[in-house]
Amino acid sequence: MNAPHLTCPDPSDRPDLWPWSARRHDGVLHIGGLLATDIAHQWGTPIYVLDEGDLEGRALTWVSAMAEEFWDGYGMGGGSAYFAAKAFMSAGVIHTVTAAGMGVDTASLGELTCALEAGADPDRIGLHGNNKSDDEIRLAISAGERGIGRIVIDAPAEVERIATIARQLGRRARVMIRVTTGVHAGGHDFIATAHEDQKFGLSLVSGAAYRVARAVCETEELDFVGLHSHIGSQIFDLEAFTESASRLMGLAKQLAAEGIECREVDLGGGYAITYTAADPVPPTQKEVARSLATAVREACARHNLKVPHISIEPGRSTIGPTTVTLYRVGTVKRVPIDEGERLYVSVDGGMSDNIRPALYNAKYCVTLANRAPTGPTALSRIVGKHCESGDIIIADTLLPADVAPGDLLAVPATGAYGHAMSSNYNMLTRPGTLAVRDGEARWLIYPETVSDLLDRDATLNPQ
Ligand SMILES: *Cc1c(COP(=O)(O)O)cnc(C)c1O
Repeated sequence: MNAPHLTCPDPSDRPDLWPWSARRHDGVLHIGGLLATDIAHQWGTPIYVLDEGDLEGRALTWVSAMAEEFWDGYGMGGGSAYFAAKAFMSAGVIHTVTAAGMGVDTASLGELTCALEAGADPDRIGLHGNNKSDDEIRLAISAGERGIGRIVIDAPAEVERIATIARQLGRRARVMIRVTTGVHAGGHDFIATAHEDQKFGLSLVSGAAYRVARAVCETEELDFVGLHSHIGSQIFDLEAFTESASRLMGLAKQLAAEGIECREVDLGGGYAITYTAADPVPPTQKEVARSLATAVREACARHNLKVPHISIEPGRSTIGPTTVTLYRVGTVKRVPIDEGERLYVSVDGGMSDNIRPALYNAKYCVTLANRAPTGPTALSRIVGKHCESGDIIIADTLLPADVAPGDLLAVPATGAYGHAMSSNYNMLTRPGTLAVRDGEARWLIYPETVSDLLDRDATLNPQ
């Protein structure tokens, strides 16, 4: 059987699928200058291995691409990039991306607290959420000398809620308005509709976004920063972003006619990465920034509008490709199926460390990490160790037919929404995240222990 989409290309064949430092030497996968076999031996499996040089490079590239394409020397208003921390939150990652010049986008008390504790500049932190708590709003307004740079209003009632808390704290809150532009995207396609039927944001078409922007400007405790939109995730088609950007500029024009200036417009995240050989090579960060700049420039010229500062919030595309999950193969079982047989290859993790296949039918690919994937292949299914038949990491793949207990498997592109969405289902301990670079390794997130889990059991730990 030879079906290229069922195998995982090596780093030399599809570098876009792997961390920058990944390569195969004498059959063994190396990441950050370390052998996958040594990593597994010393730090255990399952484990998320994050290439820190790659993360730094991606963050720097987003920052420089946005700064360059929206440079005010080109008559633009400057450009910047915020890391969407929900993709992967840890203080070490915040250090790396903020040192590269990114801001941080948060969406909960935990994320906001972690960003602040990690030392991110409050001026360059955002807070999102369709149901923010008073505690979240209070922390956002009280952080630093002036509160965080932007609280993104998601509903009309938030105008009064945020203003009330700001008044209590004796501060002004800087706010943006989340606009639903009618452009939705995910995967390879996008749709542009007139109506919105989803929980996020304020509709552009119905006039809700316009009305809330006016209400903000009439509220003394609120400082209107500008407009925000986020159209979806894992989007390959740049036209979806440019269509949404141009609609937002239309609203900016409408507000400008009322004397309301949008100092900044944020176009959100959602830029695609490669997960399998079947994916096209996604647009580069530079190409993304360039098409956004072209769309914004054209829309502003059409509306005779000064170009605002433009920001974006890439999460997945900043951290997704930096990380590889290593698993150890346990049981290998041959199961007869209509067309022959399938190998069920069980690994020592599963849906608790990667829920995306079960949740979204997301596709990943897998390769042998401890030896070259050569010789005859067998149709295989990579499954976890959970009590759930849907606990599948990769439904169909070709692995060497001699795959055996003890082999190591590598699944690339697990940096975004892997650890972030992990769980303790079946009381499995969540894997640690190990940062590797130039032959050195350190934990970003410690692996959980059974004792960590038992610590939360109130019966075992009476107070
Ligand atoms: C999830 C999210 C992002 C990041 O999306 P990615 O697909 O990871 O780039 C950015 N902004 C907002 C508001 C989000 O909800």
